[in-house]
Amino acid sequence: MTSKILVLPGDGIGPEVTAQARRVLEAAGERAGLAFDFSEELIGGSSIDARGTPLADSAIEAARGSSAVLLGAVGGPRWDALPVDTRPEKGLLRIRKELGLFANLRPAAVFPALADASSLRPEVVAGIDLLVVRELTGGIYFGEPRGIAATAAGRREARNTMVYDEDEIARIATVAFDSARRRRKLVTSVHKANVLEVSQLWNEVVEEVAKDYDDVTLEHQLVDSMAMLLLKEPGRYDVVVTGNLFGDILSDEAAMITGSLGMLPSASLGEGGIGLYEPVHGSAPDIAGQDAANPLAAILSAAMLLEHSLDAPDAAQAIRSAVEAALDSGARTADLAGEGETPMGCVAMGDLVLAKLEA
Ligand code: NAD
Repeated sequence: MTSKILVLPGDGIGPEVTAQARRVLEAAGERAGLAFDFSEELIGGSSIDARGTPLADSAIEAARGSSAVLLGAVGGPRWDALPVDTRPEKGLLRIRKELGLFANLRPAAVFPALADASSLRPEVVAGIDLLVVRELTGGIYFGEPRGIAATAAGRREARNTMVYDEDEIARIATVAFDSARRRRKLVTSVHKANVLEVSQLWNEVVEEVAKDYDDVTLEHQLVDSMAMLLLKEPGRYDVVVTGNLFGDILSDEAAMITGSLGMLPSASLGEGGIGLYEPVHGSAPDIAGQDAANPLAAILSAAMLLEHSLDAPDAAQAIRSAVEAALDSGARTADLAGEGETPMGCVAMGDLVLAKLEA
């Protein structure tokens, strides 16, 4: 079977890292008997320059006709002066909205060779392998009413509304339980039910969904405790599921425990089955065009694509093992290199991961 993959390289180092991710995806897929039909479209600043919009309708059409989208990053100082509504980031927001991507998956794993990169002690960091599943299209970021207005007494007053209905909670919980089933079978649901009614419903619905997953253990944790526990014993957690606001904060906290931006992949999944896969980092204009970017976050995003969109977990694992082998051999891009270590370029790291994949 041939899978259609849309590549949106974007700006800055986006094209450099997605080029390496595509090579590795193709090689890992081929070994697993998968064939790909790649197409490419512009997004972000490069699309603004060429087409006057951060994401053209043709790119949306191409995404809708694909099994998955592999994205680089958007933005850069060149476009910073544009009005907010026509900035590169609007392209990202639009594709997420058009594809209905309600689940954001952010793994935080520590490769043994990089345990020293974390600001936590190596013995605390050892063995971290968790996945934050964040609800992405609901909650307080989207709830109505919202806005800033004057009160009757003439004071300025601002409000936002946290709303979740049971269907929104059930579908994100289902993504979390399905993910846990493929992992270590523990779901930690994070809430603030001692204060928020939204969290009380959240817990009720998560419990209901859990009934269909006898093989998965469910536990609940208050968000304030979770913020502390993630630093105290991060290795204990497997899948952490939470709403948009708490997930925004906890996914960044979990990511930083691992210590390096160039290593972090992500996936966003929607109802229609199309997934969007992208590194967590931005377009890094300071190193763009120098062959200095770390392509591993993009390569690990390609592994997530194989796992979640193409049902090829073994091929995904083969990529992760190849990345681990490359790091174990001492290979480091500039962002990972310690004192006295000679960094390698983006293409050379891609070459090495490919070689380890074939080994
Ligand atoms: P950034 O992630 O681009 O860079 C932060 C720092 O990390 C820089 O020093 C950069 O060189 C380094 N870095 C990032 N990724 C790296 C990699 N793969 N290899 C080696 N080093 C890497 O964040 P920023 O500097 O705040 O933003 C730059 C631009 O990217 C801005 O226009 C911002 O809006 C945009 N941005 C886009 C996304 C996205 O597309 N999803 C996310 C964040 C920022």
